[in-house]
Amino acid sequence: MSAKQTEGRVAEPLDLCELAPGHVRAIAPYQPGKPITELAREFGLDERKIVKLASNENPSGLSPRARAAIEAALPELARYPDGFELTKALSERLGVAMESIVLGNGSNDLLEMVAGAFLAPGRAAVFAQHAFAIYPLCTQARGAQGIVVPAREYGHDLAGMLAGITPETRVVFIANPNNPTGTMLPADEVEGFLRRAPRSVLVVLDEAYNEYLEPPLRCPSVAWLARYPNLVVLRTFSKAYGLAGLRVGYGLCHPDVAAMLNRVRQPFNVNNLALVAATAALADEAFVERSYQLNVAGMKQLTAGLRRLGLAWIPSFANFVSVEIPRAKRQEGQSAAGAVYQRLLRQGVIVRPVAGYGMPHHLRVTVGLPEENDRFLAALENALGDGST
Ligand SMILES: *Cc1c(COP(=O)(O)O)cnc(C)c1O
Repeated sequence: MSAKQTEGRVAEPLDLCELAPGHVRAIAPYQPGKPITELAREFGLDERKIVKLASNENPSGLSPRARAAIEAALPELARYPDGFELTKALSERLGVAMESIVLGNGSNDLLEMVAGAFLAPGRAAVFAQHAFAIYPLCTQARGAQGIVVPAREYGHDLAGMLAGITPETRVVFIANPNNPTGTMLPADEVEGFLRRAPRSVLVVLDEAYNEYLEPPLRCPSVAWLARYPNLVVLRTFSKAYGLAGLRVGYGLCHPDVAAMLNRVRQPFNVNNLALVAATAALADEAFVERSYQLNVAGMKQLTAGLRRLGLAWIPSFANFVSVEIPRAKRQEGQSAAGAVYQRLLRQGVIVRPVAGYGMPHHLRVTVGLPEENDRFLAALENALGDGST
């Protein structure tokens, strides 16, 4: 056989998966909330009757101004995107130089960029137990070590996280408020952490739910940028701005850090429609205010209902709440929370199991519209009963 004939063949059977580095093979893929369409297919349900409270999406949909901007931009879709206008709008709104702003395909993209630019085998990232799932994922994907610091009453233990920093550590991820616990860190504690953290470590402050915090509880994180060159603030248009499906987020950081993130950023990572929609959504302050108010009322409605059912929950500062499912309800082969999740699905209500976050006895439910919250509470009551429905 000539050399040419053997080209492209392998002498021994090879598991193609073994071509991937061990740290990639070891990744446990992200488990998203179940899409409405998938549940409709699985159970033969009518999509319009399904209530999805599983992914912390804005129940009001998107701002009408964002929608109009999307429609107006359709004729331009043959062109590659230009992030200038959104970057400029953010710069003016936040009082941050354009060089300090990096746009992302969701803030998820920014987390990936931070990991891509600063993590590698032999390096480490610190994050809290029960913190956002993407932190361990993007750390693992780069072959870096994840240092998990035990939570304190489900929240971040910042003193523990500071103590957890090793010489190999390059990044600390802090979610404030955190998902899926809904816990919040007071501004003075976060700033205390920034003051004490080594400057050789990037502190990523993920503020995906910032707009849902009562204004006095929001961190002056943008002002901190001038004082802490190792700070990276992440925000998103996926939650209060109602643009989860378009994927837009941004990072605020020192221009030198931004330059590093831009080295690993895909050139056209945010698409045309996402850019115009986010620019319009940013200007529609009334929409964000209405979303905030709807969430305040919905959170009251949900927690009042949970109290009525005699359930415990983790007090939440975001647009979701994690409720504890009594363990006495545990049944054969399945956790009580798992069984309740399934019974809710059968009633057309999608919530989020959080066993993957080390919380096997909780279910996370997003604050929905008043009628959605009622549907959930009624279905939950049913699921906690005999569960026959
Ligand atoms: C939802 C969420 C994000 C944002 O995700 P996008 O990629 O912007 O949709 C980031 N961090 C946390 C903690 C979240 O819950």
